[in-house]
Amino acid sequence: MSFSAAVKQELAALPLEKTCCMTAELNALTACSASLALLGGGRTQVQYETLSASVLKRIFLLLRQRYQLQGQPRVSRVDRFGGMRQYRLRLSPENSRALMHALNPDRAPDRMPSLPRRVMRRICCRRAWIRGAFLACGSVQHPQKGIRAEFVLTDGARAAFLHRLLEQEGVSALRTMRRGSEVVYVRRGDALSNLLGMMGASRAMLELENIRAAGSLHQAVTRATNCDHANMQKQLSAAQRQVQAITRISLAKGLTALPKELEAIARLRLSHPDVSLEGLGALCAPSLGKSGVQHRMRRILEIAEALEAPEITE
Ligand SMILES: [Zn+2]
Repeated sequence: MSFSAAVKQELAALPLEKTCCMTAELNALTACSASLALLGGGRTQVQYETLSASVLKRIFLLLRQRYQLQGQPRVSRVDRFGGMRQYRLRLSPENSRALMHALNPDRAPDRMPSLPRRVMRRICCRRAWIRGAFLACGSVQHPQKGIRAEFVLTDGARAAFLHRLLEQEGVSALRTMRRGSEVVYVRRGDALSNLLGMMGASRAMLELENIRAAGSLHQAVTRATNCDHANMQKQLSAAQRQVQAITRISLAKGLTALPKELEAIARLRLSHPDVSLEGLGALCAPSLGKSGVQHRMRRILEIAEALEAPEITE
């Protein structure tokens, strides 16, 4: 099952609670996944279409629980979606009229329900509307493949309404057009986490949070390792250059030819090739600061460079 399908299944299984929220969710499901057919004689027929059996079941339950309406479910195979099943729920003209009147008391029954302003005023209903819209026209990519959730809507007014609700809920979303459809989408991890949690998909939200936590831990470890590795390489190659220079001097004229303070540090370097400059300074008697060691090393390198001896590579 895709991540999207799992999220829809989780949302569709949430208990039905307050009647205000049932109305809001049904309004979104109707606005975003139903069509209204005109049958003549002023009669209309509402038909819901979805690719998810759990969404169809939810619509069925909402209609029955909230308005005591029954529909006729149908399953058909749709080739344009790679042979996936499409589920349809059709209401009789009488039930369609009753539903449109209930969702839409001030509008003619042959018009899609208007976007209810009262939904915007209540947190519970805002969340229910967003959940209904997600069930109807939303999808979400598995977070391991990248953060993206989107709602594909047929008209701008609904897209603007959804965008406003998301903003009110603190979910930062963006809008765009794609092949004539309005798309409202979420691209950031924290926004997606908010969206899933707010709709009630806690299991999916936890999965996302685990992936995000593992991702940032992995990044931190990689950064720390790379940083240490780079520093070590730098230190090692500097120490290697010093050992080479000291060996060259030793072969050419012997370390005893060096001034006493340089000879001492050169011998220390030979016996401790992987110690930092601070480390070498601490081994000197009396101990020496980093810049003191650096200064002496520079002089040793200069002396080695001035030698005509053939280069020793290892
Ligand atoms: Zn409510």
